[in-house]
Amino acid sequence: MKKVLVLAEVRDGQLRNVSLEALAAAQIIAEGGEVVAGVFGAGAAAHAAILGQHGAASVYTAEHEALAQYTPDAYAQAVTQLIEFVSPDAVVLGHTAIGRDVAPRVAARLGFGLVSDVTGVEAGPVFVRPIYAGKAFQKRKFNDGKVFITIRPNNIAVGEADASKTASVVPVDLEIKDLRTIVKEVVSKTSGKVDLSEAKVIISGGRGVKSAEGFQPLYELAEVLGAAVGASRGACDADYCDYSMQIGQTGKVVTPDLYIACGISGAIQHLAGMSSSKIIVAINKDPEAPIFQIADYGIVGDLFEVVPLLTAEFKKVLV
Ligand code: FAD
Repeated sequence: MKKVLVLAEVRDGQLRNVSLEALAAAQIIAEGGEVVAGVFGAGAAAHAAILGQHGAASVYTAEHEALAQYTPDAYAQAVTQLIEFVSPDAVVLGHTAIGRDVAPRVAARLGFGLVSDVTGVEAGPVFVRPIYAGKAFQKRKFNDGKVFITIRPNNIAVGEADASKTASVVPVDLEIKDLRTIVKEVVSKTSGKVDLSEAKVIISGGRGVKSAEGFQPLYELAEVLGAAVGASRGACDADYCDYSMQIGQTGKVVTPDLYIACGISGAIQHLAGMSSSKIIVAINKDPEAPIFQIADYGIVGDLFEVVPLLTAEFKKVLV
């Protein structure tokens, strides 16, 4: 019987879905023990109801002004103090930019272990995680000591919300001091568009799109499908799009239900970021392109002909 703390993540006032996935994972890890959650920032208590409906018995909130925006030193102090207050056996959070930054920082500080980028949790608990850039999966047990677990978004099924469950809200006073980082402004490059790391459908462009304007048909298809647009590093390096769109070993790791790769050859470094997508569609004019080896559906053709055709057909059924 373990006590498991889920660190919930809020972006633009919205609770991120990966936090509910973390709660689902926490139920397995707790083995019948207690699952609690922590939320930071202004309005943190507003998320307690949904966290409670997804299994958190208590929600610890800290509305300290230094936590309004993520900074490594403020969050490391906050997470450390919350863990000292709650005293969990395991801490679960998303394998997001924040999770990847804060988990190892605090794990090292408190002498916790760390199992990162977990894509599945089995009874035991056994943690499943990709290794060798997604070519193999490792199963890890963590028997001794306390541990941080980071969960890759879109991999662990979220249970139904149970409206009869409520969490007790516990405000926590944190002392955050000696900050070396101050956020002056946040410039969002993806405002108004679907967030790549949690998108259910992603349309991705590679060097085959040939120019920044070449991405336009992809944006039009994305609009119809409610999808996010990603890219290969080839497309980013060629300045067709922003690096924030890069998917792969040195970009974002994504697990959408549907990934449509347009004009992407399928280099191992790209596959590392998208090969665990549930359905992969590849559009490439080269029938020998390696992307076809991992695609569930392959379309050999010119993306500038195929993508507008797909958009027109989807419009007929979806719009
Ligand atoms: P290309 O390999 O040039 O492929 C373009 C494809 O488009 C071709 O298959 C071609 O047949 C097709 N095409 C051309 N015109 C059309 C058309 N009109 N219609 C349809 N198809 C067409 N890459 C990543 O993506 N993400 C990473 O995170 C990443 N990290 C890396 C890290 C390291 C250390 C290194 C060394 C490399 C990394 N790379 C990464 C780069 C990777 O090795 C490849 O160079 C890159 O993925 C190639 O991008 P691409 O598939 O868009 O381009």
